[in-house]
Amino acid sequence: YVAQRSSDTNGVEPCAVEEELEPEEDSVPEGARPIQIVITNEDDHKFELDAAALEKILMQEHVKDLSVVVVSVAGAFRKGKSFLLDFMLRYMHNQSSESWMGGDDEPLTGFSWRGGCERETTGIQAWSEVFVVEKEDGTKVAVLLVDTQGAFDSQSTIKDCATVFALSTMTSSVQCVWDKYGRLAMEEIYEKPFQKLLFLIRDWCYPYEHGYGLKGGNCFLDRRLQVKQNQHEELQNVRKHIHNCFSSIGCFLLPHPGLKVATNPHFDGRLRDIDDEFKKELQNLVPLLLAPENLVEKEIGGAKVTCRDLLEYFKAYIQIYQGEELPHPKSMLQATAEANNLTAVAGAKYTYNRTMEQVCGGDKPYIAPVDLQRYHEEFKKTSVQQFSAVKKMGGVEFSQRYQQQLETELDEVYTNFVKHNESKNIFYAARTPATLFAIMFV
Ligand code: GDP
Ligand code: MG
Repeated sequence: YVAQRSSDTNGVEPCAVEEELEPEEDSVPEGARPIQIVITNEDDHKFELDAAALEKILMQEHVKDLSVVVVSVAGAFRKGKSFLLDFMLRYMHNQSSESWMGGDDEPLTGFSWRGGCERETTGIQAWSEVFVVEKEDGTKVAVLLVDTQGAFDSQSTIKDCATVFALSTMTSSVQCVWDKYGRLAMEEIYEKPFQKLLFLIRDWCYPYEHGYGLKGGNCFLDRRLQVKQNQHEELQNVRKHIHNCFSSIGCFLLPHPGLKVATNPHFDGRLRDIDDEFKKELQNLVPLLLAPENLVEKEIGGAKVTCRDLLEYFKAYIQIYQGEELPHPKSMLQATAEANNLTAVAGAKYTYNRTMEQVCGGDKPYIAPVDLQRYHEEFKKTSVQQFSAVKKMGGVEFSQRYQQQLETELDEVYTNFVKHNESKNIFYAARTPATLFAIMFV
């Protein structure tokens, strides 16, 4: 579906195409669905990236070079993540409309939240459709919605969970941690120089102490983030550092959605069955995360990340975390610096390849080896310059290693271009048999 869509839409936003499709109840275009991109294996606790699946999503022609906004909803099973994400989808599909929440009797669709019918998997799912949104200044950004699910049920799954959460934090620009009332999942959040963190507290039942919404939530959070003498030292540290790690931290208090939502097995997400108070807060919450003026582009080391870069980051992070012990703050920073350099290498290599292809690609005629060498030197220089120009984390010495790696790899690619070029030289190709022929007739 994704591949087909990218050629179909021809650079037009998904929203525009939808009008041509048969109007569906929830206007989720046919075929759009959650795709498992990171999966944790329950048996050996290894996790895998489905790079091909992620590539299909991120490398769609109309989004691959746009800055990406990654909104991730993270939490344990059965917390209502999918429920919230489905409302986010509704918002993305009806951006310009006041009544984006939809009609009273439309069942919710999207991230399969229909309790129980789908096997629950720990890991990361991304919505297959990447939304293109025009910001106020006219720039277009790509919005990726992500569902991050961890299991907190046993000791053996805690590492998986921490890793999945770390991955999600490192790759998202906005992370919503969805938790049940009263408890904050901060203990699972590690030190990291990341962007926006929003705690969502559901079933809040003390509105007279702290009102629903962001204001009450932030007030509650401030109190919870206070460091107290009698706290465990580790908890004190988390509280001290959390503000250094995220450029923005907030908390949103949501009321209970009503008994039908919480307990009725036949509840299908329709608004009629949801408490008004909850809907009122939802009406504020979703635009807070997704309205064009509130979109936060993913940045790493101060540089904006495109969809193409994000794919490289995912690949790099997964590699780094394979076999790693419990991810801790230092390793996350290290991993980010490594991934950051690897992505810069990939970008520079891509530029070299593209420019070389233009002079000596498969469909280009043979060129004189001296000219080819000149092109190589010129393009290699540009490629290394591009690498140097990218703002990188980890310091100069650290990135020197990667520059070395880049140069070695470019020389290898060049060797292949030379071989390929030689094979195009008909005189060269013909010389050996011709000479043989001549000798035979001497
Ligand atoms: P997920 O596993 O985190 O994706 O959770 P789901 O979205 O599938 O929801 C799990 C169950 O919780 C469903 O029966 C929902 O109707 C219900 N639910 C969703 N949001 C809330 C909420 O804010 N409070 C309560 N009590 N239940 C909710
Ligand atoms: Mg779910």
